[in-house]
Amino acid sequence: MPLISSAKKRKLITELAQMLQQRPGPLRLFAKFPLVKQLSRFYIAGEKMSDAIRVAKEMRAEGKMVTIDHLGEETKRPIQAEEDAAVYKKLIQAISKEELVDHADLSLKLTQVGLNTGEGFCVEKLTEVLELAQERRVTVWVDMEGSKYTEGTIKIIEALRPRFPNLRGVIQAMMKSSNSHVARLLKLGATIRLCKGAYKEPPDIAYQHRAGDIRANFLKIVDKQLFPSKIYHGIATHDEFIIKETIKLAKKHKLTEKDFEFQMLYGVKKELQDELIKLKYQLRLYVPFGEDWLPYFLRRVSENPDIAEDFTHDLIERLHTEHNIDLHWLHPHFKHRE
Ligand SMILES: Cc1cc2nc3c(=O)[nH]c(=O)nc-3n(C[C@H](O)[C@H](O)[C@H](O)COP(=O)(O)OP(=O)(O)OC[C@H]3O[C@@H](n4cnc5c(N)ncnc54)[C@H](O)[C@@H]3O)c2cc1C
Repeated sequence: MPLISSAKKRKLITELAQMLQQRPGPLRLFAKFPLVKQLSRFYIAGEKMSDAIRVAKEMRAEGKMVTIDHLGEETKRPIQAEEDAAVYKKLIQAISKEELVDHADLSLKLTQVGLNTGEGFCVEKLTEVLELAQERRVTVWVDMEGSKYTEGTIKIIEALRPRFPNLRGVIQAMMKSSNSHVARLLKLGATIRLCKGAYKEPPDIAYQHRAGDIRANFLKIVDKQLFPSKIYHGIATHDEFIIKETIKLAKKHKLTEKDFEFQMLYGVKKELQDELIKLKYQLRLYVPFGEDWLPYFLRRVSENPDIAEDFTHDLIERLHTEHNIDLHWLHPHFKHRE
């Protein structure tokens, strides 16, 4: 018998992660534990830009592309938005100088570059980043945040995409409005990253079941909107069912492995990543870096109880294979998982 049941363990991890996110004191203390910092490195490149560039080179050696994200929470201070935009400009220069343009691009959140300060200010900051990115041939993905920012984000992409073909958008399949937002981005000829969505949203505006209605809407968008458009898109998921179905849909729409890319989070489901590379599919990993790493790390664990379960499984496997620490006794079920 396992010491702790699987459901209890998931609940414990989720509650611990949620509790820590709400308490800045213990959060800061938690971040100082060497083990926590070490564990976060499975999912986060490191605190410095040079860490992200190093990971980009390591991933290139494995045949994987990356999109680099500078970690940062929503900011309401214009000076912080200026600083974040400056970091992204430095990142563009680093990608260009290190000759990584064909393998690395960047992902940013509009609230990092001033969306909370005002739409005009945000457009100004984003334009500065896009101008430099276009000059250096670097692509920019605008991440999609919680529902209060969805319309604002789409509107800003609509305003800037005609001038910047290097601008790409993200759509969350969990949102009931996703089909119409996809249609608006396709009208611009824009490349779309389709993901399930990482934010908790109410049932009147969002589907709730990740392996049910969200999965169904995801595949419907791929089949009815993304693949018929013949535009290059990103399919961002670790859901093996969606990945298998996407491969079937690509065949149905007569697309080759080069006509779209899969996307996953750095450090998640490495075996699945390697399998896709072996099958000659294109894969881009989301690689975050920065000092503000703990909220991102805890969100990955707490937002989805399934992630908490997989996180524990991954952790136990990696501690065993990479550090020779055997924690399989915690739950014998882990021994038999794929
Ligand atoms: C490249 C990329 C960019 C993204 N950009 C955005 C964005 O802009 N906006 C947004 O809202 N969301 C974004 N996301 C997050 C996305 O919306 C999902 O929350 C996340 O990918 C998990 O959903 P899933 O499709 O993998 O399916 P799920 O049903 O959540 O997971 C499928 C399987 O993968 C496992 N898994 C998933 N995540 C992890 C993890 N962290 N550790 C261990 N196992 C895991 C699950 O446990 C499950 O077994 C992005 C994701 C990726 C890969």
